[in-house]
Amino acid sequence: MAVSIADRFGRPLRSLRVSVTDRCNLRCHYCMPEPDYAWLPRDTLLTFEEIATITAAFVAVGVDRVRVTGGEPLLRRDLPVLISQLARLPGVADLALTTNGVLLAEKAAALRDAGLHRITVSLDTLHRDRFEALTRFDSHAAVLAGIDAATRAGFESLKIDTVVMRGTNDDELIELLEYGRNIGAEVRFIEYMDVGGATQWRRDVVVSQADMLQIIEARYGAVQPLGGRGSAPADRFALPDGTTFGIIASTTQPFCRDCDRSRLTADGVWLMCLYATAGTDLRRPLRAGATRDDLVQLIRTVWSQRADRGAEERLVLGSRAPLIPVAALKKDAHLEMHTRGG
Ligand code: SAM
Repeated sequence: MAVSIADRFGRPLRSLRVSVTDRCNLRCHYCMPEPDYAWLPRDTLLTFEEIATITAAFVAVGVDRVRVTGGEPLLRRDLPVLISQLARLPGVADLALTTNGVLLAEKAAALRDAGLHRITVSLDTLHRDRFEALTRFDSHAAVLAGIDAATRAGFESLKIDTVVMRGTNDDELIELLEYGRNIGAEVRFIEYMDVGGATQWRRDVVVSQADMLQIIEARYGAVQPLGGRGSAPADRFALPDGTTFGIIASTTQPFCRDCDRSRLTADGVWLMCLYATAGTDLRRPLRAGATRDDLVQLIRTVWSQRADRGAEERLVLGSRAPLIPVAALKKDAHLEMHTRGG
């Protein structure tokens, strides 16, 4: 049975985000705006068996929610095989995937059959021309087809995540809410974050939770806060007709004190925080012969010393610029959002 652990602020470790690749088939300008990138060497990528072993070690210290991410996770060949391995781990109560949806139409049914519970599709605009300007790829129709396939595949829940940026898509909140309502998906609006990779980040482009609520209430009337967020990143609200939506206000109202998440990169580096500048290499000990119990011990030790509050520390900075300069990102792929998985 899992024996849970707490960090220095008493935060338990409950949720693990597992990145299965650092590659992506989009180039969203808030995440991968540069012309070229340094990729993780292929021989360092964890095999499915290694991912399952490491995940099992996390489950043994109390993780019961696992989210598969990337880069773009659907670029990883045979992903349903990994999903079925993770779904079989006793103790994983919630198994979810975050995808940009480009390859989802052909994979949704297989992912569901493999045991995936929930799916989140990142979609920032309902307009094809905007999508192409934002991502550098003409894949909007493919994403919509992927979402359509996901609605038919029978997942326990489907969410749409939208990063809201002033001057880019802040005029689409209502359209996106209506779209979510029509397809039975909950929309979550994300504040633009100054994480690694967001090299063009500017404070004035951030649309705050307060701004978003103002736009939404101007159209629908007062929304009702649903409360009970717990450790989830989104504050949830209901429109007067009962339609629910979420806002992830990581930039203006960070929730570090409730953070029970950590992240595993595709090459096995374990990160405590999206703003962390370094992590713990789990691949090296695993490949040197560490057992699952050895990993459990290492995870316990590292988590019990955790004391970061990355987003809250950023909030109190007087002037705020992109977190990591491009030159530093080029030297260490682990600093990139697309390596950390979001
Ligand atoms: N490719 C997958 C996808 O698109 O969902 C998974 C990886 S992506 C890095 C995970 C999430 O991080 C996406 O929803 C993306 O929009 C979000 N993201 C990336 N950069 C961000 C930023 N600067 N601020 C807020 N969210 C960001």
